[in-house]
Amino acid sequence: MIVVMRRNAPEQDIQHMIKQVESLGLKPTVLRGTERTVIAAIGDERNAPAGILESGPSVDEVLPVLAPYKIASLETKAEPTVVRAGSLTVGGGRLGVIAGPCSVESEEQIVASAHAIKKSGATALRGGAFKPRTSPYSFQGLKEEGLKLLATARAETGLAVVTEVVAAEDIDVVSEYADVLQVGARNMQNYRLLEACGRTHRPVLLKRGPSATIEELLLAAEYILDAGNQQVMLCERGIRTFEAHTRFTLPLATVPYLHAKTHLPVVVDPSHGTGHTPLVAAMARAAIAAGADGIIVEVHPNPEKALSDGYQSMTFPQFDDMMTGCRKVAAAMDMQI
Ligand code: PEP
Ligand code: MN
Repeated sequence: MIVVMRRNAPEQDIQHMIKQVESLGLKPTVLRGTERTVIAAIGDERNAPAGILESGPSVDEVLPVLAPYKIASLETKAEPTVVRAGSLTVGGGRLGVIAGPCSVESEEQIVASAHAIKKSGATALRGGAFKPRTSPYSFQGLKEEGLKLLATARAETGLAVVTEVVAAEDIDVVSEYADVLQVGARNMQNYRLLEACGRTHRPVLLKRGPSATIEELLLAAEYILDAGNQQVMLCERGIRTFEAHTRFTLPLATVPYLHAKTHLPVVVDPSHGTGHTPLVAAMARAAIAAGADGIIVEVHPNPEKALSDGYQSMTFPQFDDMMTGCRKVAAAMDMQI
């Protein structure tokens, strides 16, 4: 941390702050300029309680040097984390393609989806059994019955299953059936749920909250990592802005930015990110070109009849076309599917 003192700070305040830095277990190095004095506090600043130095006398500002997230940081681990769950590999040059309906609706729907997406080149099946819906009157998912149908689809196709867990009390039942636990955008800052996911042995797909900063996303991931689970994927799924032509705004700069900050693989969700089927394929290709390690998209046998998110779901032929384009971009990016 760098403690910048105010102009002409009295010597007694500088000495006080030197002692404060020492009391935090950090080593102070004092740099005296003509007008200002700066105290560099050397050591692992993340163990020092935040804010304690800011309130000191004659302190102008305190600048952190290290990222506040520790285990997620590239400073801690330089090599990329590769997440593996059955048929799905994400990171380290392997592109994960997770596809399937927003919600599991019936055996016929999920099994047909699994066969179709597999044939087109997907490497995992998505489908919500526990659905976090904006309205309590909307379809809430088939719950455990939906999980069983996902397991049937896995048994028939060999595809790994990615499904959402909305509450800590459902972790056991969801982990029993799922290969990857999805933490949805609405739950990104549900810290008890994140800790509970961190105590499981299932990889986690952590979605960015629509109003969360990237630092908040990384700190949310830190909860899972700190609880002992290192298999975490970060997912950009669009944020809320003033723009109304898309459901959310999909900021693809998140991908290279995250790669510069963390070793965790980055997945992009162009379905929720745009909210319009005709925009999804182009944004999936753009995500891969931006360096994404995976994509997650919504595909439905008949989007017009979907119980959730039909307006952003692709038909099987649309998904097949999307994959043709994605394969070309992945090859150009030296990514293997
Ligand atoms: C979903 O994947 O269907 C979903 C609810 O996504 P999000 O949490 O990103 O809104
Ligand atoms: Mn959805």
